[in-house]
Amino acid sequence: MLKIKNLHKSFENLEVLKGIDLEVNKGEVVVIIGPSGSGKSTLLRCINHLETPKKGAIQISSTKVDAEKSNKKDIQSLRRETAMVFQNYNLFKNKTALENITEALLVVKNMTKDEAKEIGEKLLVQVGLKDKRNSYPSTLSGGQQQRVGIARAMALNPQIILFDEPTSALDPELVGEVLNVIKELALNNITMLIVTHEMGFAREVADRVIFMDEGYIVEQGIPEEIFTNPKHDRTKKFLNKIV
Ligand code: ATP
Ligand code: MG
Repeated sequence: MLKIKNLHKSFENLEVLKGIDLEVNKGEVVVIIGPSGSGKSTLLRCINHLETPKKGAIQISSTKVDAEKSNKKDIQSLRRETAMVFQNYNLFKNKTALENITEALLVVKNMTKDEAKEIGEKLLVQVGLKDKRNSYPSTLSGGQQQRVGIARAMALNPQIILFDEPTSALDPELVGEVLNVIKELALNNITMLIVTHEMGFAREVADRVIFMDEGYIVEQGIPEEIFTNPKHDRTKKFLNKIV
């Protein structure tokens, strides 16, 4: 479903992605772990061209964007196939929870207000925030804001949802409610690529775990393999440090 081929990205002289090859199947949950600065966020941001790769190709379903001959139209359709959930929620502050979710439906899909509202309300129920539909982000807890962020990501029915450390800005007691929402999406066969430092969660939710270091995918496998029997020294060192 998602195919990444030989992806390279540099910031000036700093080579951050050094040839990433990765495929994600429909319904698969892939978790990316790795040290700070290894290129995890850059990889996610290259997938929807929030960052422009230097080389390589991104394909989602039938949309393929090759870095060396990309055009606006293809990039736009690539973006339509993806949604991103950010560490800091990135909600519209002057819009209610419901409006945050329906905005794209009105603007991108040209739905009527009633159609958008119906979908938005369903999604709010799904993330356990039925009562907060008219609340503004500033009056919601971090965990609630992030659940709105997830509902918003789901609204356009993307092929894949990209999560960049969705719980790392949260107080510890709010992490669980957000992880539970993501776990439920996994049960519903939503395709997801998730960067996280929550190893317990990774173990529980991932079909496959990818370990990245210094711009490379060093090792990948089912959670059991990576966490109990990592093959590479760098993976072992990383896991020893964080447990
Ligand atoms: P973390 O776990 O800390 O979030 P990460 O694996 O997500 O780390 P990236 O954010 O992808 O790492 O960054 C990889 C490298 O690229 C880092 O050295 C970072 O400083 C650099 N980098 C990222 N974004 C930019 C940018 N916009 N301009 C210049 N350098 C950048
Ligand atoms: Mg990051």
